[in-house]
Amino acid sequence: MLGLMQDWPLTVDKILDHARINFPRREIVTRSIEDGSLSRTTYYNVWRRAQQVTNALQERGIGLGDRVATLAWNTERHMEVWYGAMGMGAVLHTLNPRLFPEQIAWIANHAEDKAIFFDLTFTPIIAAIASKLPNVKFFVALTDRDHLPQADIPNLIAYEDFIEGHAPDAKWGGFDENTAAGLCYTSGTTGEPKGVLYSHRSNVLHGMAANSVDCFGAGAADVVLPVVPMFHANAWAIAFVAPMCGAKLVMPGAKLDGQSVYELLESEKVTFTAAVPTVWLMLLNYMQENKLKLSTLKRVAIGGSAVPERVLRAFEEDYGVEVIHAWGMTEMSPIGTIGKLLPEHYAMDHESQIKAKLKQGRALFTVEMKIVDDEGVEKPHDGKAFGRLLVKGPAVARAYFKNAGAKNENGECLEACGFFDTGDVATLDELGVMQITDRAKDVIKSGGEWISFDRHRKYRGRRRRRGERGGDWRLSSQMG
Ligand code: AMP
Repeated sequence: MLGLMQDWPLTVDKILDHARINFPRREIVTRSIEDGSLSRTTYYNVWRRAQQVTNALQERGIGLGDRVATLAWNTERHMEVWYGAMGMGAVLHTLNPRLFPEQIAWIANHAEDKAIFFDLTFTPIIAAIASKLPNVKFFVALTDRDHLPQADIPNLIAYEDFIEGHAPDAKWGGFDENTAAGLCYTSGTTGEPKGVLYSHRSNVLHGMAANSVDCFGAGAADVVLPVVPMFHANAWAIAFVAPMCGAKLVMPGAKLDGQSVYELLESEKVTFTAAVPTVWLMLLNYMQENKLKLSTLKRVAIGGSAVPERVLRAFEEDYGVEVIHAWGMTEMSPIGTIGKLLPEHYAMDHESQIKAKLKQGRALFTVEMKIVDDEGVEKPHDGKAFGRLLVKGPAVARAYFKNAGAKNENGECLEACGFFDTGDVATLDELGVMQITDRAKDVIKSGGEWISFDRHRKYRGRRRRRGERGGDWRLSSQMG
């Protein structure tokens, strides 16, 4: 017998619609790419302009399932393209600007991107690869006509001209909730990068799970600053979470250094923020050097790599900010576990609680985890036995785009038991708390991004021969 509830497909257009209806005047503040000043808009305006994006895309021949790429920072315009493309059933593909231009071109070609929206910061990358992207019909610089770059890029248009004249009357949704919504490539294992293809349903479910009380726990009274970029696994779901709950959003644009992040935290009265540890090290150094305090920040989510004890202690002991240690991966949308304490931990002394918080944490609802040996036999949850960490859930990848790296005849990237192997090695304790102890994957992480050893060597060698700068994979101070 089937239930008798209404049919309401879980598509992400409903998220922005919800914000438009319930939080129309809630602000989205962006540090502009053009001059670093702060610009202000609202959920209503972002919805309106996202509708214009849809109509503009459709007028230029973009349809259901077409890949629309962005090479962009966290900004209001990026949000508009994000919802404008996903809302109509196109697939929003976040390209990662931290990769080499030739890798970005390889990924854009593999994804068969039909359009690329880019921030001015990345004009040199687009100019270098535009001629190698035969599928791209047009490029949109995320700016106005006055700032349109004078670069050798064919079919280039300024974003404001692109949407101008289009009515906010696009039809969103109306397709199956399992329709693809987003694409993000991961280079987390050896071989070529693989595309993780999120669905509308997986994004909605994951956004709801990510904002449960023991995870981000954000509400309409919160001010949320996602420093983690939208190109790094959907900014850890924050571009979905904030409009779902009506939180004010603060978008940092291209400036992720300690001083710029501090200024935003204070001037916009941020209560919740999220980023990889390197960002927090830069912020903490800046605050310590300048003897500064945090006046409104309550919670900080840290993931992408293990939280250093120094960072945990500084936030919690020196600044009174709660650290939410999160573990996950692109293939998991991305959050898998959260380090929020359980009643058993609260009964412990402070030092034991710090130790507990350094662990990666317990599973979010929608995530199943187990640790197994090389034969696939489950290991006990005793906090000592370690094994390969396998995961399962509605927001965990079943297959990569175009079945890359398939492990079975159905093209899936799954183990025989139907779980996904994270490539991490971990323990699980009696309370269900997971701790990463090692990595099985042949990769190194540089400033928050993975590089397989093979690729690292290959590209470093190639660049050295060309006489280019050494620390190829080392990232700028703007970490993701
Ligand atoms: P990515 O897909 O780039 O987000 O990378 C995912 C990988 O980053 C995971 O499989 C882990 O190896 C690593 N990782 C993410 N979060 C953490 C964490 N909190 N502690 C340790 N490693 C982490």
